[in-house]
Amino acid sequence: MFIELEPIFNNDGAQKQFDYEFPLDGSDAVKSVKAKGSVKNRTGIVSLNAQVSFFIDTQCDRCAAPVKREMSITVHHILVANLNDEDNDEFWLVESMNFNVDELIREDVLLSLPAKILCREDCKGICSICGINLNEKQCDCKQPVDPRLEGLLKFLD
Ligand SMILES: [Zn+2]
Ligand SMILES: [Zn+2]
Repeated sequence: MFIELEPIFNNDGAQKQFDYEFPLDGSDAVKSVKAKGSVKNRTGIVSLNAQVSFFIDTQCDRCAAPVKREMSITVHHILVANLNDEDNDEFWLVESMNFNVDELIREDVLLSLPAKILCREDCKGICSICGINLNEKQCDCKQPVDPRLEGLLKFLD
């Protein structure tokens, strides 16, 4: 969704609301995103605030069990036409006054996703030898020893 920023930047008190859904690129786990919020100018500072919700539908990175989870994040950025302090991620540099809200929200959604999506925080995964799901059963397989530790273990024997 595009918002024309010029009238907002130029008028204290101006605001534009949005409430829409768009397909998300960049993640296999999330298909689409709902965003509801506004861009507004308060005393010359233009900020975007939104409540963003989406549905994770994927497989656990460790045990491949289906993971379905609703997520909701709050998005807040101050929109600036030029950036002095590069380190502050609260600021969002606007490249065009015809502003693509999807891009900003997409970036925050992707940042909010964990590097590994797990069915549960302590998922034990799958035994690499017998293939059993270790959340359901235990097995007696001897896990291969890290070669860097092998020398040490011999020494201890
Ligand atoms: Zn799992
Ligand atoms: Zn096993």
